[in-house]
Amino acid sequence: MRQVITRFAPSPTGVLHIGSVRTALYSWLYAKQHNGKFILRIEDTDKERSKKEFEDNILDGLKWLGLTHDVFYRQSDRADLYKKYLETLIAKGSAYISKEEPTEEGERSEVIRFKNPNGVVTFRDEARGDISFDTTELKDFVIAKDFETPLYNFAVVIDDFQMGVTHIIRGDDAISNTPRQILIQEALGAPRPMYTHLPMILAPDKTKLSKRHGALAVTEYREEGYLPEAILNFVALMGWNPGNDQEVLFLDEMQKLFTLEKVQKGGAVFNIDKLKWLNKHYMKLLSKERAGESILNFFPGVLRTKAEDNPVIFEKIVPIIIDHVSHFGEVRALAESGEYGYFFDEPTYPLEALLWKDDTDRTRTAEKLQKVVVLLQSVSEESFDAEHIKAALWDFATEVGRGSVLWPMRYALSGREKSPDPFTLAEILGKEVTVNRVNEAIKLLMV
Ligand code: GLU
Repeated sequence: MRQVITRFAPSPTGVLHIGSVRTALYSWLYAKQHNGKFILRIEDTDKERSKKEFEDNILDGLKWLGLTHDVFYRQSDRADLYKKYLETLIAKGSAYISKEEPTEEGERSEVIRFKNPNGVVTFRDEARGDISFDTTELKDFVIAKDFETPLYNFAVVIDDFQMGVTHIIRGDDAISNTPRQILIQEALGAPRPMYTHLPMILAPDKTKLSKRHGALAVTEYREEGYLPEAILNFVALMGWNPGNDQEVLFLDEMQKLFTLEKVQKGGAVFNIDKLKWLNKHYMKLLSKERAGESILNFFPGVLRTKAEDNPVIFEKIVPIIIDHVSHFGEVRALAESGEYGYFFDEPTYPLEALLWKDDTDRTRTAEKLQKVVVLLQSVSEESFDAEHIKAALWDFATEVGRGSVLWPMRYALSGREKSPDPFTLAEILGKEVTVNRVNEAIKLLMV
């Protein structure tokens, strides 16, 4: 048995897209579960479109996701090798230097063409079964512009051969290249790897996927505060399933369960809501420390300082914040709209906001809040938690109308239309601050 060797072979002509992560992940999983090797190969034969910044983005994204490679190659470092194999093919009569038709300027350039034996190529695809191509129509295709400039289909074959790649897992846009690559392999006497072509990822409405559907670069998801665990789980399920309806899969579970046979022929759908759902799931599993750190990273500077200065309050609001968002980018947006300010600073609000819709009488509202203060005072400092506070206030609120007590109390504490319930708020803020804020509201009502 040969050692399993897989590769992820991105062209650095764009950033690492979430769809390419799937190719990398499946190749990585397959190698790891067979104690094999996972190669990262940067395919930069297109000198004009390849950019260092894209290579950096790809490396950065893979590292963040934990898809570490065992070996790294860059095609531009391997020019001598390609040249050697071009010469070999020419010597064997499987390739030749071809004089092209003269251009308008009258120049006759040269390219290197593969001598097509014009047969039918049949290969097995793990996801699709046997695929046959009549290669006659490919004619004698170009494999290099010159000895220094090999083209993609040629360089890929040399690399896969030289690197001992046993399993090629890649997007189905490469299917049409496969017969060319097989012809070159056969001319070189190279072994044929196993092929698995992954189904194209579509938007939920089955149209072509685009940024509009939320498909972004991996680094953009990181900036939006998605967790790498969620991204990996999400891409794993686009075109593969574990054979049951399990949807939450950690990397080590995927490593156990992944099989090429379960890779689907089609039906790979990108559903951003599913990513959000998974992300929320993983957010809830975060340790308090990691959750807190992530939130702080997404807090604007001033709020961050306040949170760091008030660790007791901050610790209490971490689970509440997590509960209300699907990724940390939402925390940033909420923080910017002033959502969390009241946990640290006394809120300001217009007097009218305190009045409950069914009881807009200022004096009566003030009297109710005075009673709230008395009841709050009856709860001891040690047992000042949501449960005890609720127990102290509930009967009174029920008697005189819950909304007319709890609305102004909550507003006094948060100064916002929406916030956690008043008991939770009171617990977080502590007895002193809670009583002070309710007293401030009473003052405002009495003016
Ligand atoms: N560089 C090619 C691409 O990015 C790789 C295709 C392959 O895996 O062979 O599409």
